[in-house]
Amino acid sequence: MSFSGKVWPAMTMLKVANCPSCGQVFQKNLRNLCQGCQRAVDADFTACSDYLRKAHKATTSELSEATGVSLRQIHAFIKENKLPATFYPGLTYPCSSCGAGVRKGHLCTSCSVRLTAEIRQMRDKEEKAKERGAGFQIRDRLSY
Ligand SMILES: [Zn+2]
Ligand SMILES: [Zn+2]
Repeated sequence: MSFSGKVWPAMTMLKVANCPSCGQVFQKNLRNLCQGCQRAVDADFTACSDYLRKAHKATTSELSEATGVSLRQIHAFIKENKLPATFYPGLTYPCSSCGAGVRKGHLCTSCSVRLTAEIRQMRDKEEKAKERGAGFQIRDRLSY
C-alpha cells in the first residue's frame, strides 16, 4: 500500500507564520497576530477607549501616559480607525515625512503641499528632457 500522492486536507489548510509582534509561530488568522498578542492589543484598546470615554479630548500622548499603551500602538488604532480621529479631536499620528501630528492621510498639510510641488517639478523636468532629447535626435539625423 502506498501513500504517495495522497493529500491530507487538514495539513494543507494549516498555514503558520511568525507573529509580526512577538515572533512566535502561530496559525495564520485574519488579524495576523498570535493569540497572546491579540489579547494584549484588545486589552490596550479597551484601556484606550475607556480613558477616552472620560477624557474625550485627550491628546495621543496624554492617552499613552494615562493608559501605559505605547504611542505606536495608539497610532495604529487611529490609522485602523478603531479610535477614529474624526471622533476624538485630540488624537493625531505622525506625518510619515516630518513627524508632525496628522489627523488624516499620511502627510501633514505642509509636507503634502511641498511633495505635490516637488512631483510637479520632476514631471516638468522630465517633459523638458524628453523634448530636448527629441530635438537632438532630429538634428543628428539632419547632419548626416
Ligand atoms: Zn505574538
Ligand atoms: Zn509633515
